[in-house]
Amino acid sequence: MTQSRGKEGSQVQVPPFNKFMGMELVRKEGGVCEVALELQPHHCNRRGVAHGGVVSTLLDTSLGGAVVSSIPKEWWCATISLNVQFISGGRGRLTSRGEVTRRGKSVAFARGVVLDESERLVASAEGSWHLWQNKPGVMAPPPRDHVVLRGSGERVAVGKIVAVGRNYAAHAEEMNAQVGEEPVLFEKPSTALAHGGDTLHLPRDRGAIHHEVELVALIGKRCRKASPEEAAAAIAGYAVGLDLTLRQMQSGFKKRGEPWFLAKGFDQSAPVSVVAPAAEVGDGSGLDISLAVNGEIRQQDNTSSMVRSAADLVAFISQLVTLEPGDLVMTGTPAGVGPVEPGDRLEATIEKVGSLNLRVAE
Ligand code: MG
Repeated sequence: MTQSRGKEGSQVQVPPFNKFMGMELVRKEGGVCEVALELQPHHCNRRGVAHGGVVSTLLDTSLGGAVVSSIPKEWWCATISLNVQFISGGRGRLTSRGEVTRRGKSVAFARGVVLDESERLVASAEGSWHLWQNKPGVMAPPPRDHVVLRGSGERVAVGKIVAVGRNYAAHAEEMNAQVGEEPVLFEKPSTALAHGGDTLHLPRDRGAIHHEVELVALIGKRCRKASPEEAAAAIAGYAVGLDLTLRQMQSGFKKRGEPWFLAKGFDQSAPVSVVAPAAEVGDGSGLDISLAVNGEIRQQDNTSSMVRSAADLVAFISQLVTLEPGDLVMTGTPAGVGPVEPGDRLEATIEKVGSLNLRVAE
C-alpha cells in the first residue's frame, strides 16, 4: 500500500493499482469512500466515453475502499460479488462513491454510484465482501501471548516466563542432580505459551520431549528486590503449567556447559491453564498436583514438597530481575517426568487451581 493525503488532510491507504489506473482516493472514512479518475484517452472508447471495465474498476475500488474503512486494520476482505448497472457514458472526470450498507462478522454489503463531471449518473453497483480477521494464508493468526483470569475473564499479556529447576527433591534425585543452595533459573520466551485445548505440534527430530507439570504464578504487581511477604502480595493468581523439555538436547547443553534456551524455549513448550485468582487458591502450598498421560498417572505429589515456595522464588528472582505484571514464574516439577509421544492426551491438574488438557499432534 502507498500513502496519499485525502482532501481533509488525513492519511489514507491507497491501493497500489491506483498508480497505473490514475485513480485518486478522495475521501475514505467510516464505511464511506470516494474515488476520482480523470479520464485519459486510454480509458475511453472510440466515442470518447469511459469503457465498462474502467467504470467497473472504479466502482469496485470505491466500494472495496468503503468496506476496508469499516473493518479493523488487521482484517482483510475480498469481493464476493459485484453487480454493475450502466446508465450512460461518462466523460471528463468520474467520481465514484461507495458506502457500506450492512456489515456482519464475516460479510459486508456495499453500494455505490459513478457520476461524471456534469453530475450525470454513469453507473450504479451493489456488491458483497467476505471478511477475515486476518489475511488468509499470508498473515499469521493473532499472537496468543496472553493468559485469562478465571472469573473476570480478563486477558493478561504475558511478558517473561521465568522457570525454576530442581524445586522438588525427588525430581532432582531422578535427574541425578542436587538441590543447590540457590534455585536453578532459566527463561522461556512468551512465544512458548500454549493454552488448554491446544494441539501441540512439537519438534520431532531433536530427541525425547519430557512432560514436567508445574504450579505457575502470575505476577500482578511490579516486583523489585521484594521480601517474601511483598512477593506473596505481588502474585495475582496461579495456573497449571507444563514445562515441556527437549531432554536429550538439554543433556547435551548441560554436558557442554551451554544455556538450555532451545531445549526449554521452543514453540508451545509452555502450555498454561486459565489463571485462578490468588484469593481463591491461597499461597499455592498444600495443593495436590498430578499429570496423567492417556489416563495413566505419571506425576503425582503435593506443592508442599516444593523446596522453595512460589513467594520465596519470586522474592529471590526479584533481587536481580524486576518482575512485572503479566510475567509468569514456573515453580518446578515433581518426580515422574517422562516422554510424550505423538497422539498422547495430557491432563495436568492442581487442586483448587484447575486443569490443563492437551493433545500431542499425531
Ligand atoms: Mg521444569
